[in-house]
Amino acid sequence: MKTEFLKITGNAEEDREIILSAAKVIKNGGLVAIPTETVYGLAGSALIRESAPKIFAAKGRPSDNPLIVHIAEPSDAERLAYTTPLYYSLAEKFMPGPLTMILKKKDIVPSTVTGGLDTVAIRCPAHPIAHELIKVSGHPIAAPSANRSGIPSPTRAEHVLEDMDGRIEMIIDGGECDIGLESTVIKLEENGCIILRPGAVTAEMLSEVCESVTISKAVIEPAIAAEIKAESPGMKYRHYAPSAEVILIDADDNTFEDYVRRNSDGKYGVLTSDDDAQKFSGAVVLSLGKKGDAREASKRLFNLLRQADEIHLEKVYAQLPEQDGEYLAYNNRLIRAAGCKIIKLGKK
Ligand code: AMP
Ligand code: MG
Repeated sequence: MKTEFLKITGNAEEDREIILSAAKVIKNGGLVAIPTETVYGLAGSALIRESAPKIFAAKGRPSDNPLIVHIAEPSDAERLAYTTPLYYSLAEKFMPGPLTMILKKKDIVPSTVTGGLDTVAIRCPAHPIAHELIKVSGHPIAAPSANRSGIPSPTRAEHVLEDMDGRIEMIIDGGECDIGLESTVIKLEENGCIILRPGAVTAEMLSEVCESVTISKAVIEPAIAAEIKAESPGMKYRHYAPSAEVILIDADDNTFEDYVRRNSDGKYGVLTSDDDAQKFSGAVVLSLGKKGDAREASKRLFNLLRQADEIHLEKVYAQLPEQDGEYLAYNNRLIRAAGCKIIKLGKK
């Protein structure tokens, strides 16, 4: 299949044409990769039974790992799922935005989308291209990240092209994604919620609306993610890993620096801040931005892991930040990129 690559220009008329032809592909049961504020999504109709299997095939994703359904307005969920008062309280604060809520599904959503579950994950993306495509096509859109399964999610259209060229009908290039990590996924309870996947909407932010916010054990203790009967099936799979070996160290700054220096062999990189870059003279520095800037680090992480492969690094050393609110999503992805192995060294 020939994959069309179309660039958003900012010219209203040209961009409208792009949205119209993408909507046509969606309505015909085809696939379009689209920019969202989190990462690029691989979009297909959530109402056409045949679309979801095409998404799983293009990604090489196991079909029991359900897809998130994207809607234009919070009330569009009524057609797809049984909403609750808490859904609307959260929607008021976080929709559109990087929050996905799991609700009991209605029959209209094909089981191919939900991996056979009786629940459906709902998100309302803030990105104007995603929003317009949903509105113009008239279809809610099932969209996982637009990468080949197992490797880092795409935050730029070129990443999608590397993974999906010849596999899907169209890629829309809308520039770099703002957030760079996937949405926060929560399961709703009566007055509270459980975080199944951390993202830019943090536990602290959710607790402004929910009486209780619990973080699923599998988020914090990755080693058990593979063992427990996963509440969110996606958590049990190998994820976000580049070909380079990611060596994750839990240590203070000096101990980390010592460890990297003592183990420096071959062509290796270090994920570090601009502030600490000069400490690692023998390494390719993969810069996360300013020290302590969780948002910038999150935005850059997947791109840096892909860069590591482009320049054929054998190893990438990374230091594990404290597991506090803003770094939780970053840590969650980094730990999985490292195959859930953490080397714990003493902290001075
Ligand atoms: P991705 O499509 O790559 O952004 O991943 C979607 C995430 O949402 C995966 O971790 C899925 O397991 C999770 N997810 C989607 N639908 C459901 C659902 N109905 N119940 C639990 N988790 C879900
Ligand atoms: Mg994904």
